[in-house]
Amino acid sequence: MTTHTIINPATELPVRQVEQSTAEQTDEAIERAVKAQQRWREVAPGDRARLLRRFAELVDGHTDELSALETANSGHPVGAARWEAGQVRDVLMYYSAAPERMSGRQIPVPGGLDVTFKEPVGVVGLIVPWNFPMPILSWGLAPALAAGCAVVAKPAELTPLTAMRIGELALEAGIPEGVFQVLPGKGAVVGQRLVDHPAVRKIVFTGSTEVGRQIMTGCARHVKRLTLELGGKSANIVFADADLDRAAATAPYAVFDNAGQDCCARSRILVEASVLDRFMALLEPAVQGVRVGDPAAAETEMGPLISAAHREHVAAYVPDDAPVAFRGSAPQGAGFWYPPTVLAPVPADSIAYTEEIFGPVVTVTPFTDEAEAIAMANDTPYGLSGSIWTGSVGRAIRVARGVETGNLSVNSHSSVRYWTPFGGFKQSGLGRELGPDAVDAFTEVKNVFIANN
Ligand code: NDP
Repeated sequence: MTTHTIINPATELPVRQVEQSTAEQTDEAIERAVKAQQRWREVAPGDRARLLRRFAELVDGHTDELSALETANSGHPVGAARWEAGQVRDVLMYYSAAPERMSGRQIPVPGGLDVTFKEPVGVVGLIVPWNFPMPILSWGLAPALAAGCAVVAKPAELTPLTAMRIGELALEAGIPEGVFQVLPGKGAVVGQRLVDHPAVRKIVFTGSTEVGRQIMTGCARHVKRLTLELGGKSANIVFADADLDRAAATAPYAVFDNAGQDCCARSRILVEASVLDRFMALLEPAVQGVRVGDPAAAETEMGPLISAAHREHVAAYVPDDAPVAFRGSAPQGAGFWYPPTVLAPVPADSIAYTEEIFGPVVTVTPFTDEAEAIAMANDTPYGLSGSIWTGSVGRAIRVARGVETGNLSVNSHSSVRYWTPFGGFKQSGLGRELGPDAVDAFTEVKNVFIANN
């Protein structure tokens, strides 16, 4: 058994040692999950719903503990971490309504009647990244449990603490042993075993497009069901007829939220050329106003990056000769700090403009008309998120329909809402999470013909 030392990204001090699961332990957990799932699917829908609600209430009662744990483990500002714990509660509560509404259909056919059932797919392997350990766990977990599946979750090696605690709360809530297990460990060991084990019937993966591709290949061997939430390089498109004050005031939060470690980060700001200078003049104080610092302080808006290695990765996009237009602040000394950074003008072939940086770095590029804005937004292999700022409803609709991306906001910087489907076009993923239909992704439709003679 090996252990991993969790490091507080704001202080670089060790937080805790976590034992890493082995491939053999993963197999044992999967076997437990197979047995537990057989019993869980038989739990009456009303009782499954009640257990999910009790689980949600326990998470709610532990908001302070979970958010403090996330702040220490991931460096998330405590206000954001509280929102993230609240998201787990809300997502569990939202999908607690599903077990009692999972009805099939009846289809009249010659010679009898056909009825359909939604059967749980079985054991689900949930592979979670380090950027949003709590919300992303809940997006797969809640609908899977509601559907009658068992879940074996692998948190990211760097950020397992909140998932481990949420696993304990599930047991305390009365979710039976084996229905939800959390296995900290390496992707190449635990994650890979979840992909390779034939008894795991579905993988829900959030992370890099590169690993997503490997997982898709692994799943193909078993024709295993798969949901992928991958990278992004989303555009924040600002037209001259927009409320420029609001567009500029919110643009930092559309990209620097979670220190830019966000697949929905709108990391390319595209601005209509006629208002570029005015927009930049408004953006500068907005960027400098982002409160970067101690994540345990209530007023902090942006914390550190997750690790020293990740800070090096981000910094590589901003070499000494990079066109830095302006920057925000960041603390000096211990901690993996990186200041909010705005690059402009940037050539269209610069890696800062084309690659997902996953840090607090944004480019600003002018466009001349609507057609060019859409073409620029789409000139990327990704298609996850995006925002459009305009005073024209017609333009908002035209541009929203033209941008090849799964989640768009108009005159708002919001991105993920649990009531609405979330997922990507192109290389940003496969399938959708959240929203009213998410439970269906954890079921198989079975049709049964009943002869009438
Ligand atoms: P990865 O894709 O490497 O990791 C995501 C999860 O997959 C982790 O739990 C990881 O485990 C696991 N994993 C890694 N390799 C395998 C494997 N062979 N089989 C099964 N599971 C595996 O992302 P990173 O966390 O390293 O981040 C790198 C980049 O990914 C970021 O810079 C960003 O571009 C993107 N990303 C996108 C996210 C999104 O929300 N769309 C979220 C996070 C990252 P382990 O803990 O060992 O790494």
